Amino acid sequence: MAIATINPATGETLKTFEPLNDAEIAAKLDVAGQAFEFHRQTSFERRSQYLQKAADILEQDKAEFAKLMTLEMGKPFKAAIAEVEKCAVVCRYYAEHAADFLADVTVQTDASHSFVRYQPLGVILAVMPWNFPFWQVFRFAAPALMAGNVGLLKHASNVPQCALAIEDILQRAGFPTGVFQTLLIGAAKVADLMADERVKAATLTGSEPAGVSLATAAGKQIKKTVLELGGSDPFIVLASADLETAVVTATTARMLNNGQSCIAAKRFIVVEAIADKFEKLLLDKFEALKLGDPMELDTDLGPLATPGILQDLDQQVQDAISSGGKVITGGHALSDRPGNFYPPTIITNIPPDTPIAKEEFFGPVALLFRVADIDAAIKLANDTPFGLGASAWTTNDQERDRLITEIEAGSVFINSMVKSDPRLPFGGIKRSGYGRELSIQGIHEFMNVKTVWVK
Ligand code: NAP
Repeated sequence: MAIATINPATGETLKTFEPLNDAEIAAKLDVAGQAFEFHRQTSFERRSQYLQKAADILEQDKAEFAKLMTLEMGKPFKAAIAEVEKCAVVCRYYAEHAADFLADVTVQTDASHSFVRYQPLGVILAVMPWNFPFWQVFRFAAPALMAGNVGLLKHASNVPQCALAIEDILQRAGFPTGVFQTLLIGAAKVADLMADERVKAATLTGSEPAGVSLATAAGKQIKKTVLELGGSDPFIVLASADLETAVVTATTARMLNNGQSCIAAKRFIVVEAIADKFEKLLLDKFEALKLGDPMELDTDLGPLATPGILQDLDQQVQDAISSGGKVITGGHALSDRPGNFYPPTIITNIPPDTPIAKEEFFGPVALLFRVADIDAAIKLANDTPFGLGASAWTTNDQERDRLITEIEAGSVFINSMVKSDPRLPFGGIKRSGYGRELSIQGIHEFMNVKTVWVK
């Protein structure tokens, strides 16, 4: 895949980049290794000042960064602004809490003094996706750099200008040269990086095949990885739910980021008693969405990020129809305009056991399933290879407790859409990946948890 900025709203190639050659990659690895030796010695106070400064830069220039995201991957500008603001929040969160999260922890034993000390591992490779081009990177970088680790970013090939802007922000914030570098390289170079002894661990957010490939390369070298992969998250609505709020939230949760979010609600599982009403309300909401130029402030739905994603989604919808699904709105790529536009789409009647029902739809397509009761809802929710996040709607306490306990996912949100929050751990189980980002758990991922025993 070429490293280039191609506007998804018009199809126009705006800028192309030469990937780094092997000598240039090696030079950056050297600089990263040297930077670690220095950075690991700096105080939490100093790192915290840099990260606070990064937050200031993000806030001051948020319109500029947001425009870059919209230009490169098509998310609505107002959502891009919110993404930059959230990056500032995660920077401030770790600037404030990292020292506490990584303080020595005394454990009483028969030693005179025994404790746990957290120490950074070194150079960490971050392979990141285009869908939240700033957020995905900052949620890795803020804890990693606060912990004394050093970051190397291999960003998705369609967001090179975002990748370079992030490197620039962290440098302007004061982090010394080499503490955070962007590598403009293709995916084929990742395995070699994992084999390089200067790289100590890696995190990847992206698709399952990419996760398998990185974990295989890392496994050969016994290197730690964190994987944040895909999801086909359920959105369960039981009879006692506040239906109006559930439908408004369902629409937001499916359309987030033009439908291209790992934690977007993708399978809507609704009990029969309210299914007709839910379907009608959802249809009204989907048909009221404004599709168009993502730079316009009143646009709800912009283009998909690449022509390939558009094609894949269109094929999945056709497969769903062939498997018995019924399209009640949308259902075809928009061919009457340039850019990668796909309309809001609802598919009902898909037999739950067909292979297509278990796939992740990465775009504005909702699969609607009807079930008899909570037992059937939980069974269907768990009948997926993924396990990222689940949203479930009920006002009944017993139902709520069952949903929290029995749903197989990294998170369960009751009467709310699934979202990430720096204060809470984020990640999946099953084929959605392993490890956690954000919160105290996230900053502990790339640390040597050293046991100390003093007699
Ligand atoms: P992708 O194709 O896997 O790309 C993600 C990153 O991995 C890019 O930097 C890509 O580089 C790189 N990559 C691709 N193939 C690779 C390989 N074989 N070895 C090493 N690196 C490789 O994923 P995407 O289509 O951009 O993103 C969509 C997927 O990400 C969805 O499944 C979504 O659910 C998931 N996602 C998960 C989370 C989460 O937190 N769990 C968040 C966001 C997205 P190139 O661009 O150069 O190919």
